[in-house]
Amino acid sequence: MMAGPFAYRRAETSQQACELLREFGEDGKLLAGGQSLIPMINLGLAQPSALIDISRLRELDGLELRDGLLRIGAAIRYRALEQSGDVRKAAPLVAEAIRYVGNQRIRNVGTVGGSIAHADPAAELPLVFSVLEATYEVTNGRSQRSISAIGFAQSRYSTLLAEDELLVAVKLPGAEPGWGWGFQEIARNAGAFAMVAVAALVRTNGGVVQELRLGVAGIGDRAIRCRRYETAAVGSQLDDLPEGSPFLIDDLVAADDPLTPATYRLRVANVLARRAVTDAWRRSTAAVS
Ligand SMILES: Cc1cc2nc3c(=O)[nH]c(=O)nc-3n(C[C@H](O)[C@H](O)[C@H](O)COP(=O)(O)OP(=O)(O)OC[C@H]3O[C@@H](n4cnc5c(N)ncnc54)[C@H](O)[C@@H]3O)c2cc1C
Repeated sequence: MMAGPFAYRRAETSQQACELLREFGEDGKLLAGGQSLIPMINLGLAQPSALIDISRLRELDGLELRDGLLRIGAAIRYRALEQSGDVRKAAPLVAEAIRYVGNQRIRNVGTVGGSIAHADPAAELPLVFSVLEATYEVTNGRSQRSISAIGFAQSRYSTLLAEDELLVAVKLPGAEPGWGWGFQEIARNAGAFAMVAVAALVRTNGGVVQELRLGVAGIGDRAIRCRRYETAAVGSQLDDLPEGSPFLIDDLVAADDPLTPATYRLRVANVLARRAVTDAWRRSTAAVS
């Protein structure tokens, strides 16, 4: 399908980008890496009257680890995350998850901010940012606010961002001693979106779970934290961790899609959750022994 005509503007500052968003209203779209927006335009799923190019905004750049806090600019590309020693050190869960995003071509171009704002329910980054309890810095050009990654996506392709706001950066607390991490994903083929992806963080003491965080993407309309499982697992050893199913099913509302029945994806989520939690438990116990 041919894209319809649209205006193209390159913003020089984030303030200008927000002003252009206000000028064009809901028909104006920010353009970062274009790896989701352009396919949507080509498929006729989005028909913006204007594209506001933010790919060269210096304010959205930068990847730094300072005082135990990792700050990732919204325009940082997946490839830069993949290659960063700071990310491997402070957020190994992110470093692991990034390998599953699309293919090398997508990772060379797609951005962190684009992934978060696009809010695909199967995307890896919103999942790991929710488990890591990241904070998103957002601006409308006049004022800034911080939004928790948990609850940022409201449903498929919908977030808490106002029409004139743009994402500036993600802030992550660096990995603390004693925590272990695990990430598991199954996709129909290499480079495709996840059918199910699971991220886990576990902190143990003497092999006993003190704290656990578990998130699942690919089921439902956004990444979900499995709160009932997280609570039930505290006080368990590896061998007596709760069976995932009853807890996961409680937290996850799965719908059939044309290729995969919901019951199958829930079964996969259950298996992947067990594997991710086991990996996280092992890393945690190795770290504290
Ligand atoms: C073949 C293929 C396979 C893929 N596989 C995966 C996968 O496995 N996992 C995965 O997570 N993704 C996958 N993607 C999507 C890819 O990761 C996109 O790059 C990403 O979703 C969007 O990032 P972008 O920078 O390209 O954003 P764009 O496409 O430029 O923008 C996407 C949306 O975000 C908005 N936006 C962008 N930046 C900002 C900002 N700073 N503030 C506010 N709004 C903003 C835009 O207005 C637009 O609505 C795949 C894409 C393709 C084409």
